Amino acid sequence: MKLNRKLRMGMVGGGPGAFIGEVHRKAARLDGGIELVAGAFDINPDKSKQMGQELCLDAKRVYSTYTEMIEKELKLPAEDRIDFAAVTTPNNWHFPIARDLLQAGFHVMCEKPMTLNVQEARDLKKIVTKTGKVFGLMHNYTGYPMVKLARDMVRQGDLGNIRKIVVIYPQGWLATAIEKTGQMQASWRTDPKQSGGAGCMGDIGTHAENLSEYITGLKITEICADLTTFVKGRRLDDDGNCLLHFNNGARGVLHASQISIGEENGLAIWIYGENKSLEWHQEHPNYLYVKEADSPLQVWRRGNGYIAAKSKAAARATRLPSGHAEAFIEAFANTYCNFADTLRAHLAKTKPTDLENDFPKVDDGLRGMLFIDTLLTSAKSKSKWTKMKR
Ligand code: NAD
Repeated sequence: MKLNRKLRMGMVGGGPGAFIGEVHRKAARLDGGIELVAGAFDINPDKSKQMGQELCLDAKRVYSTYTEMIEKELKLPAEDRIDFAAVTTPNNWHFPIARDLLQAGFHVMCEKPMTLNVQEARDLKKIVTKTGKVFGLMHNYTGYPMVKLARDMVRQGDLGNIRKIVVIYPQGWLATAIEKTGQMQASWRTDPKQSGGAGCMGDIGTHAENLSEYITGLKITEICADLTTFVKGRRLDDDGNCLLHFNNGARGVLHASQISIGEENGLAIWIYGENKSLEWHQEHPNYLYVKEADSPLQVWRRGNGYIAAKSKAAARATRLPSGHAEAFIEAFANTYCNFADTLRAHLAKTKPTDLENDFPKVDDGLRGMLFIDTLLTSAKSKSKWTKMKR
């Protein structure tokens, strides 16, 4: 039997002026199946209260710290307490918060990169396995319908053997030392204690890595990385260029940058197979370009019947008819939708369908941390090519 009620959501992070917490709140609530009922929204307890008021939450369920949230939610009757919490804090907090939530019996949706380092990622994987709780990781770019279509085209063999993958993620917002002005998002992202061993590569390079593996189903096996810090005094990379080897012999190029002036959120991917090639741009997400030798360029457009015929996952991830643009929040919401349906199945002691179970999990988070660790080793080494750690 399907569970027929709204899921109750708590949130850690996402206080006044925070970036991604608000996106989580909008996305989780987009389809009406999730209700935000509690939170510890800010490192500053007063700001957490302020956020709770702005969100019109019951003041008793707006907490000063995440530990208080866990403690007090556990005291509520099971039918009132949160089912899961979203972790939307800076990276250094992901592990302790996710760990404590899981161990207290709550399910978790966590931001990326999953942890601060590989050891925490391995530990978190063990905790997810041991507790049996549902754990989602917000690699939201896999939530786009046309990304799911691309993955299904690869799965259905349309491209043939994949030979080459090019994935880029240029941004320009860290081209100057805005962290020195106190800019909230820049301050922690450029601090190794809060961000982890990599800056730009941890922040957005991991999205590129995850996207390439999600669409192709391939695994990166070796990395040759060149990392640079262009902005004086900054302690972490703000630009990185990697060559990749994949487990089928495919070759890859991955570049991520936060000093590429004029670039906004330019994630894009090209996948070249023996028979066909694909191209997708995050800033124009409703279109997937399909190329064949000696043929005109095809533009597959979201929301059309031929998309649904080709990819059930793309159809499921589509809300509006063609031509009515969908984008970032909807892709986030798709990740929430699949996470929530899987959680509903879990709570009803049934199995989620493959379509429902299609969202990033703890293994993707561990791959992301291994990717960071391997590229840091490669960037420092003279021999450069470094086997992807396991
Ligand atoms: P931010 O600085 O805008 O917001 C962080 C919020 O967390 C702030 O409100 C801060 O007070 C709060 N916070 C910090 N420590 C806390 C604690 N212990 N308890 C409760 N609240 C706490 O940061 P952001 O840009 O929103 O990034 C947050 C996370 O989301 C990061 O891990 C980042 O990598 C990730 N992120 C992901 C995406 C994506 O596309 N998936 C995009 C942006 C950010």
